[in-house]
Amino acid sequence: MADVYDAIIVGGGFIGSAVAYHLAHRGLKVLLLEARSLGSGSSGACGGRAQVAEGHPGLHMDLVMLGLERLANLEAELAYDFEWRRLGNIMLIRTQAHWQEWTAQVAHLQSRGIPAEMLDPAALREAEPDLIVEGYLGGAWCLEGHLNPMKYCWAFARGARRQGALLHAQEPVLGFEREGQRLTAVRTPLGRYSAGAVLVAAGAWSGRVLALAGAALPVRSTNAEAMVSEPLPPVLRHHVGMADFYETIHNSPQAVSLGVLQMANGGLYISESVEMTDRIRELTSIWGPPGMAAELLRLAPRLQGVRLLRAWTGQSPFLPDAQPAIGRLPGFDNLFTATCFHLTITTTPILAGLIAGMMAGESPVPSLEAFDPSRFIRN
Ligand SMILES: Cc1cc2nc3c(=O)[nH]c(=O)nc-3n(C[C@H](O)[C@H](O)[C@H](O)COP(=O)(O)OP(=O)(O)OC[C@H]3O[C@@H](n4cnc5c(N)ncnc54)[C@H](O)[C@@H]3O)c2cc1C
Repeated sequence: MADVYDAIIVGGGFIGSAVAYHLAHRGLKVLLLEARSLGSGSSGACGGRAQVAEGHPGLHMDLVMLGLERLANLEAELAYDFEWRRLGNIMLIRTQAHWQEWTAQVAHLQSRGIPAEMLDPAALREAEPDLIVEGYLGGAWCLEGHLNPMKYCWAFARGARRQGALLHAQEPVLGFEREGQRLTAVRTPLGRYSAGAVLVAAGAWSGRVLALAGAALPVRSTNAEAMVSEPLPPVLRHHVGMADFYETIHNSPQAVSLGVLQMANGGLYISESVEMTDRIRELTSIWGPPGMAAELLRLAPRLQGVRLLRAWTGQSPFLPDAQPAIGRLPGFDNLFTATCFHLTITTTPILAGLIAGMMAGESPVPSLEAFDPSRFIRN
């Protein structure tokens, strides 16, 4: 006999942990299965930026605004300090085309009530006096947020556990049993479980896990590297990134751009060297960390001699249309997925609640139809 749950969640990153919290909060009997440890996928690899700058008009920005509102009170709700703070973001701009693009984006952010402005070179130097910004036309600034990503994941996981959810780490899902349109059991090396609803929130691995159930979703991912330095006295006031990040990483199979911020403990978080390949790589490359260090020293030569403590590789999952997949899989009564989010940290508190509602049979408001996984199924 299989152990029976109302909901089983596959994957213990931000998304799986947050949905577990919301479902358990509704009084459902929840089991979360994580192949390794909680947060060991992309969630623990990430920079902790609660992104706002890149929010597209429409649904994305609506979710960002709701997410920011929720984040302001989430530590109290989850009774856990995940080092939430408001932090400015500056995108450094090299070309006229990006200057125009970001001028329009800043106007859009302002129209949503987000503090944002374009910085000319003098304002840029004033904002970040330790950076050498010759060669840049200026920057686009806006107010975002930052948190400790591992603690964010644990905050949801602990909240879920407090509400009665069972969280099993080191228990990979190996297969599913199916009768017609229903998944009847989930198999792991340690057990066989059944549930009213199953959610696959396995990040870059979601396509592979769904395939075990006979469902298809074309999830791809890049390997993205980051590293941290020893703690330093205050040197950076913002997260500083490049307006041409996406061009840089899309123009070459192996590319280095720069995003850097100073964490609450004084260490620098430095990202990203990106390899475009479907092969999920666990180890860091030989070219990535030196490439990121060189980019950083070009921008901040006074950091020469700062010691790096650790570099790692994480996955950035995406779908062909660069939109998330959220909802029930076509052809299944009780199989759901939630993966490939945009601006994940900012939107997770809202989307996780909406997904929990969908699994309980509710229609989400706002509608998430645009993210329906059935858009990839050809008629
Ligand atoms: C270097 C880097 C920097 C980033 N910076 C930011 C940032 O600043 N802000 C931001 O919002 N986003 C950032 N991101 C993106 C963000 O990290 C991801 O969008 C987010 O972590 C995805 O969460 P998830 O829960 O979907 O996936 P994951 O965190 O990857 O969780 C999926 C989990 O599923 C588990 N799993 C896989 N297969 C199985 C199986 N068979 N059985 C059970 N479990 C399984 C994995 O072990 C994993 O723990 C960054 C990403 C990278 C790589």
